[in-house]
Amino acid sequence: MSIAGNLAKIRERIGAAAAVSGRQGEDITLIAVTKTVDADRIRQAVDAGVTEIGENYIQNALLKYPSIGNAVKWHMIGHLQTNKVRQAVPIFDLIQSVDSLRLAEEIGKRSLAAEKVMPVLIEVNISGEESKFGVSKKDVERLCEAVASVPGIKLSGLMGIAPLGAGDADIRRSFAELKSLWDRLPDENRRWLSMGMTSDFEAAIEEGSNMVRIGTAIFGPRS
Ligand SMILES: *Cc1c(COP(=O)(O)O)cnc(C)c1O
Repeated sequence: MSIAGNLAKIRERIGAAAAVSGRQGEDITLIAVTKTVDADRIRQAVDAGVTEIGENYIQNALLKYPSIGNAVKWHMIGHLQTNKVRQAVPIFDLIQSVDSLRLAEEIGKRSLAAEKVMPVLIEVNISGEESKFGVSKKDVERLCEAVASVPGIKLSGLMGIAPLGAGDADIRRSFAELKSLWDRLPDENRRWLSMGMTSDFEAAIEEGSNMVRIGTAIFGPRS
């Protein structure tokens, strides 16, 4: 199946899942996750209508940026080290992986220096697995309050990754928990709820996600 064919199928599935929660496919933003995907295949996806891409590593994003540029919006979805923020700020349109005040402050400082305001999401460790990045559920509210007042950034919602290999019920419960944390944010910070990947995006949308991050179902398995 071609990238365009995969995208058409995914759009159909997104539309069906959105209808379950009383919304339309257009209400859900699709991020094509392009880690390990080269610039040629990213361009095929762009030709097929992709407008937003997600990268996990700043180094890989920097390599692809010259040939893709502003044809799409760039989302940072991987762990971001404070010492890489300076390089990330010029490229990315939304940083989804903020999990500390220190990181938020660095993004704000570098964004102000670049005369931009960077929208950010707080990454929540909804699975509770120790190996995962993200702020713990009990600390979300406090971190959001602190991050919301950092100059140079705009707190715009939450991001989470379901527990790996968990059953459907546990996955749904973790999505529902993230949705209820998101519901408690002030209006001006409650723009994006980024949850759902290839294996679970329909469940995520049915539980209230409005932004899904899909790699494998668009580009095939990663080597
Ligand atoms: C890789 C990745 C995805 C996409 O995963 P697929 O299962 O290939 O759809 C989504 N979100 C994050 C944070 C990722 O690292």
